[in-house]
Amino acid sequence: MMRSTLIICEKPDAALHIAEALSEYGEATKRQKHGAPYYQIDTKDERIVVCSAIGHLYQVDAKGSSERRNYPVWDFTWKPKHQVERGQRRQELWLQAIAELSRGVDTYINSCDYDLEGSLIGYMILRYACNGADQIAKRMKFSTLTGRELREAYANPMPRLDFSLVDAGMCRHEVDWLYGVNLSRALTESAYKFSQRYSTLSTGRVQGPTLRFVVEREKEIMTFVPVPYWTIEALVEIDGREMAAEYQVERLEIKSEAEHVVEKSSGRTGRVEDLESMRHRLVPPAPFDLSTLQAEAYRHFGFLPTQSLGIAEGLYLDALISYPRTSSQKLPTTIGYREILSALSKIPQYEKHSSSLLSARALRPNEGKKTDPAHPAIYPTGVSPKRRLESPEQKVFDLIVKRFLATFSSAAIRESQKVTIRVDDLRFLVRGSRILEKGWIELYEPYSKLEEIILPPISVGQKATFKKVSAEKKFTQPPPRYNPGSLLRLMEEENIGTKATRAEILDTLYRRGYVKGERIVATSLAFKVSELLLRYCPKVIDVAFTRELEGMMERIESGLEAREHVVFEAVEHLKPIIEDLKANENEIGKELTETIKEMKMAEITLRTPCPQCGSRLRVLRSRRSGKRFIGCSGMWKNGCRFGLPLPQFGVLTLLEKDCRECGFQLIQVKTKGKRPLISCPKCFQAKRQSISSSRSG
Ligand SMILES: [Zn+2]
Ligand SMILES: [Zn+2]
Repeated sequence: MMRSTLIICEKPDAALHIAEALSEYGEATKRQKHGAPYYQIDTKDERIVVCSAIGHLYQVDAKGSSERRNYPVWDFTWKPKHQVERGQRRQELWLQAIAELSRGVDTYINSCDYDLEGSLIGYMILRYACNGADQIAKRMKFSTLTGRELREAYANPMPRLDFSLVDAGMCRHEVDWLYGVNLSRALTESAYKFSQRYSTLSTGRVQGPTLRFVVEREKEIMTFVPVPYWTIEALVEIDGREMAAEYQVERLEIKSEAEHVVEKSSGRTGRVEDLESMRHRLVPPAPFDLSTLQAEAYRHFGFLPTQSLGIAEGLYLDALISYPRTSSQKLPTTIGYREILSALSKIPQYEKHSSSLLSARALRPNEGKKTDPAHPAIYPTGVSPKRRLESPEQKVFDLIVKRFLATFSSAAIRESQKVTIRVDDLRFLVRGSRILEKGWIELYEPYSKLEEIILPPISVGQKATFKKVSAEKKFTQPPPRYNPGSLLRLMEEENIGTKATRAEILDTLYRRGYVKGERIVATSLAFKVSELLLRYCPKVIDVAFTRELEGMMERIESGLEAREHVVFEAVEHLKPIIEDLKANENEIGKELTETIKEMKMAEITLRTPCPQCGSRLRVLRSRRSGKRFIGCSGMWKNGCRFGLPLPQFGVLTLLEKDCRECGFQLIQVKTKGKRPLISCPKCFQAKRQSISSSRSG
């Protein structure tokens, strides 16, 4: 009898790569069962079947039949996803296919991504769809989908599943479910019981504290009192060349002092008193971990973190880069620096720099501090794209390749110069800087840019004439709003959430209407939810508690903590919190309902008042035709009939900006798959009227 092996992957693309890699051992055929593709490879003495999940096929749910609105709920169990959520027919069929493929198999291998989620996905399938095979299954570990690494991982699998990762993954899902379900239902139900209207409100173990960061920052900005200060800038001429100079004190707090400096220096001639130059060594950047990649992609391309992660995962599934969900900034030698660089040197745009690195005697990456037990930092595999990459993919790929090259390069050397000019007892500074050695900066272009200010030769004692001196009044600035990149970094610094879930939590905040804009602004609903949570259950938005729990869950990964114990602790913490919420349902419901109402009203109320009667204008819907239009709220008071038509399709947003022509508030209409259209409702109507009158005339 021939031996048989079943390999379970996380996604169909990964299954294809593994099948391709193993096809070196025998004939591979692609087949299908219940619509799920799988691969069969027949070697001399073994039949290998490679199949895949489509993400999570199991999830946590309330024990028994679950009434969706009840809370609190403490008893949970794992169920096939299709039994919990609607529209999961495909998942149901895939599970059935895997169950059938698992019959009569000798060896099982979990080959999902090597991390919490992947370990869990494989474990659940092996345990429940493959008849308890989790106890005998092996584990493949790899960081790229290249043939070489996959064959090696297949030849030398870990003898058992990584049960501590499985436990940590299960615990995370269970604890998050307990929090999410109980807290979100408490909020949603309170609002529903009060208003009989249903709006989905949510909070969670990580979501609550994250929202709190945004709200706190918003409060800081709102209460910030700007303080004026003055800066002094000058234009000096030395040896016929003009250059910018600044007063030696950067900020002057008193106006008269600033005026005094201007008066005492304008039009005068001073002398160069001192020259100073310093050399700085700029070390190459560390290789990318996920969050630095996300931050850099946001900075250069404006990609949101979830978007960058999605693109990176696509590149990984094309075997172009290593596994992107990593927090490591290390590149072990085992990845084969030389092999990768010589492969990259075959891609025209990377040829020059790859070859120059290869000619160096020793290759040493400038590694960062962060580590990850499961994967190295993100690096290109050297495989060249087999298809034309879409523009965003091309951008992220280029960024990753250049970062990789830069990290092996030499330091850049910058020289900064400081020229001190004295006129009476006042001192001004002229600053210059230039790059002496480009080093890694050249390899990382255009993502690295250092500005140079080249000064002419200057010597001590030279005359310097002050052509123009001016004092400028400025104000101290409030702290900046978070952007998606900086908020993710903060979550990481505060150690809440995981690299896999942070971006998703951010998305939820947007979807629930808690935050808006790229410069993240907390909405009034966010303020209210945050305030209510702080009042009734401060522990939920307490970062310290979240972090404590996070620590416990990390200890499960290293086998130092038992999953059952952590879940028990979490429930013990939650119970009194939920009881408090329940006891205050009425008040919470009232406040939430009012806020939601206000927000909905604000969303449809224009800033521009009615040009005929001065009342508020709103976006309304006609009772008769169902069409939306701008109507005047004065109608019920004074019978004002002012109105403007609106586009009927697409998502309508009232913008902050006003029309340049007529001053009316601008609107934006976004139809799926199209670029948003910005227009002025008033000018639009005027244009329409003039067209129709010219037609009739
Ligand atoms: Zn009116
Ligand atoms: Zn206008």
